[in-house]
Amino acid sequence: MSDCLFCKIASKAIPAEVVYEDDEVFAFLDINPVNPGHVLVMPKKHYEDFMDMPEEVCLPLVRMIKRVMSVQIDGLGYEGVNLFQNNKPAAGQVIPHLHFHVIPRKTSDGYVHWHGHEYGNGEAAIMGAKIRESLKNL
Ligand code: 5GP
Ligand code: ZN
Repeated sequence: MSDCLFCKIASKAIPAEVVYEDDEVFAFLDINPVNPGHVLVMPKKHYEDFMDMPEEVCLPLVRMIKRVMSVQIDGLGYEGVNLFQNNKPAAGQVIPHLHFHVIPRKTSDGYVHWHGHEYGNGEAAIMGAKIRESLKNL
């Protein structure tokens, strides 16, 4: 996609700190990291989000994510890693080119877990049934 920022980064039209690339996969430093070494892993080809991505594209991305995590823990000395992947603006996706955030973490670096809400009486059973039924049609 000619107007996509991450397509431009993958084609080197816009510079980035690239840590790995092959024919399919591109990995580079997030310009505004949670911690230094926060890596974005993405397919070179443009897919808008996770639902848009063909399944066969997943395996090389997952392999790369696991390698980056190993480097963050074993090489850079981090203690944990968040793997985030945002789909659509409502879920925080700003750049509409599928990418995974591989975020290295240290204990007490300020991580805040999301705040969940409890289900009301019987609501979990209703929701579970809805999802089970919908899954049968996919
Ligand atoms: P999203 O919210 O779409 O999941 O995440 C987009 C990420 O891309 C953000 O964490 C942001 O810091 C990063 N980003 C935005 N523009 C650039 C850029 O020009 N270069 C790099 N390396 N990262 C960028
Ligand atoms: Zn793109």
